[in-house]
Amino acid sequence: MRRSRSCVMSHKPTEQKFITDRMLGTLTRYLRFMGYDTTSANGLAEGDPREDTRLLALAKEQHRLLLTKDAELARRGDASALLIRSDNVMEQVQQLIDQHLVVRRITMSRCSLCNSELREANTCEIERCEYAPKDWRNLTFYWCRHCKRLYWNGSHGRQLEQRVERELRE
Ligand SMILES: [Zn+2]
Repeated sequence: MRRSRSCVMSHKPTEQKFITDRMLGTLTRYLRFMGYDTTSANGLAEGDPREDTRLLALAKEQHRLLLTKDAELARRGDASALLIRSDNVMEQVQQLIDQHLVVRRITMSRCSLCNSELREANTCEIERCEYAPKDWRNLTFYWCRHCKRLYWNGSHGRQLEQRVERELRE
């Protein structure tokens, strides 16, 4: 199957991992499209009064950097947490690039909904998918086993890739 060089890169196990607070849903999806292992507070049960403490504990246990919009939480987290300054997702990603935590790229290697690693989709999965494009030429398809969701370079990737290339600095 054809792979677009700029779109697909292999995931390195030593890379930075993240956990995000509930304010950073869009950034969470972007980081997953960029191939970074990113869990979210949105995956925890709602209404836990000790959620901040729980997030800090998870960050330490799982060697993740906690990204948060909450200055107090960032201060408590010290080296395990980072205050995200902007409300704009592209500026948020730029902050992470500037701090050498991520590199500018789109990998399409993780599901944007659940963070699972994607694998290449098989013909059966593509054919059964109602929203798949009918013309498969120049496309590579990926599959999330958990969400049963199909991705391809161009579904989210192309537009994101253009934004990342146009709007972000190395
Ligand atoms: Zn998924």
